[in-house]
Amino acid sequence: MVMQFDKRSKWWGWGKEDEAYHIPDPDRFWAYVRGRLGTTKPRPRVTSLADFKLRKSRLPRRDIAELRQISGAGAVSTDGEERAFFSLGKSYTDLVRMRRGEVSNATDAIVRPGDEQQVLAVMRLAAGRRLAVIPFGGGTSVVGGVEPVGEGPTITIDMAALNQVLEIDREAATATVQAGVMGPDLERVLRRSGFTLGHFPQSFRYSSVGGWIATRSAGQNSTKYGAIAALVQSVRLAHPEGILSTPNVPAAAAGPDLAQMIVGSEGTLGVITQANVRLSGLPERRSYRGYLLPSFAAGVQASREIMQAGVEPAVLRLSDEAETESSLALRAAPQGAAAAAERVGRWYLQRKGLDLESGSIMILGFEGSEADVRHSGEAAKRILKRLGAASLGSSPGRAWRRSRFAAPHLRDVFLDNGIMVDTLETSTTWGNYLTLHAKIRDALRGALGERSVVMAHLSHSYTDGGSIYYTFLAPQDEGGEIEQWERVKAAATDAIVAGGGALSHHHAIGIEHRRWMRDYLGDEGSRWLSQIKRTLDPEGVMNPGKLIPDLEVSPRE
Ligand SMILES: Cc1cc2nc3c(=O)[nH]c(=O)nc-3n(C[C@H](O)[C@H](O)[C@H](O)COP(=O)(O)OP(=O)(O)OC[C@H]3O[C@@H](n4cnc5c(N)ncnc54)[C@H](O)[C@@H]3O)c2cc1C
Repeated sequence: MVMQFDKRSKWWGWGKEDEAYHIPDPDRFWAYVRGRLGTTKPRPRVTSLADFKLRKSRLPRRDIAELRQISGAGAVSTDGEERAFFSLGKSYTDLVRMRRGEVSNATDAIVRPGDEQQVLAVMRLAAGRRLAVIPFGGGTSVVGGVEPVGEGPTITIDMAALNQVLEIDREAATATVQAGVMGPDLERVLRRSGFTLGHFPQSFRYSSVGGWIATRSAGQNSTKYGAIAALVQSVRLAHPEGILSTPNVPAAAAGPDLAQMIVGSEGTLGVITQANVRLSGLPERRSYRGYLLPSFAAGVQASREIMQAGVEPAVLRLSDEAETESSLALRAAPQGAAAAAERVGRWYLQRKGLDLESGSIMILGFEGSEADVRHSGEAAKRILKRLGAASLGSSPGRAWRRSRFAAPHLRDVFLDNGIMVDTLETSTTWGNYLTLHAKIRDALRGALGERSVVMAHLSHSYTDGGSIYYTFLAPQDEGGEIEQWERVKAAATDAIVAGGGALSHHHAIGIEHRRWMRDYLGDEGSRWLSQIKRTLDPEGVMNPGKLIPDLEVSPRE
């Protein structure tokens, strides 16, 4: 499942060349899209990585020779196509530039170390020569995390060869995993032993354990299993001075938790080579159902009550009214018996004062023992019923599970047709939830203009609050796509920071959010973070230009 440089991977989109989004009813789909956005027209793109015009690798021959000595001749590449591929991630602006064949600041070499000692040797070489180093896991960053920044030569460390699950401790229910293991490979091995990590970001198929840890990622089932921060027990980090190995214990009162300092460090403190992660037994039973609530506000209240009642859903995904409406419009129109069943369903909902198109759909999933799933499902149902919800049965739950990794392919369809499509996210406390949601939605609508779609959902819930995740669409400004996106992104992020939301709930900071870090953390928080970076990476070689606000040390100076 490795998407790292592979001739079959869609460098201009998501997944492999033989994967595509299946639009169930194209007429209905395009009628909805054109009704909202106006006419669209196909946008051509560069067809081959070989057509990219890249500057030559700036890495001195001597450095290339030494990298080859460290990792072997076949593990170092300065090939143009490969350099283009490894220079951007999978954000909207990355894909726009890839489709134009435009990689203005390409990495200078890719090295694929075979073990931790080789990673360390590469880092030492880089620090000694003041070469920037970017760790690359699956390359699915949506915040510019793997893009070179600045003037000097850059080495990208591809973690693909550190791809082993080293040990499963059945008694402790933990696993020792190398950082380059990709999602599906990890789960395949764990399942054979009856375990799961329970970490399924939408990018699961093409992202790595090291990338998850480095970005403080959250999977779709984090409400039950925890986001990656909770799943990491210990880490090993290679940095120019040596290997940091944090103690492998379940809990400790031995000062601040160093492992948690590495979680979310985005490659700016070193390369995560290995981690011990906490596992769960494979669930005996899964039950995923859909509910219709009278409004998003009622759904948010239900989510809060469910979380605070101690009910532990694996998935609690609540679409706002706009997302509910568009997901209904984009599915295939039911035919025959299904159409008759839907008519009956709508009649039943109407009698309860509910309307599919103006309500708010919740997907509620439980996983665990037969008894736990039944007990939790009943407790949640009581809350939902009291708040005016109606059950839509298990088919929306099944449909969501079936298609949960497919949506990124739809982004390619929009981009092929000149439509800007992006997502952004935050989190806040329950008391501020609807106010912040309205502010961000209005900021997005204002920046996008009339011809646009802005929709949101809640997908990660806590006892004290939840995440808000937006998807937005608008016709692209032809030739000015990046500037258009920057205006929209700035309006939404200003609203998030001013409104007291998290600068990111799970996408991380990278380049994209970095300019807001100072406002978000405050002067003191920014100074702490900068000082930590400066102490651990005095040459400023580790993924420069990402995460750390106003960093003064840089290899380019
Ligand atoms: C379609 C799509 C859906 C997504 N869905 C989700 C989601 O549901 N939840 C979520 O949390 N995120 C999501 N993301 C964002 C992205 O997938 C995550 O940030 C993921 O954790 C990145 O993993 P990766 O292996 O691809 O890392 P990369 O993109 O390779 O790297 C990300 C960052 O981590 C650093 N890094 C990578 N490996 C290491 C390492 N071994 N040591 C140190 N630093 C390292 C990189 O330098 C970079 O700064 C999505 C992205 C896309 C494109």
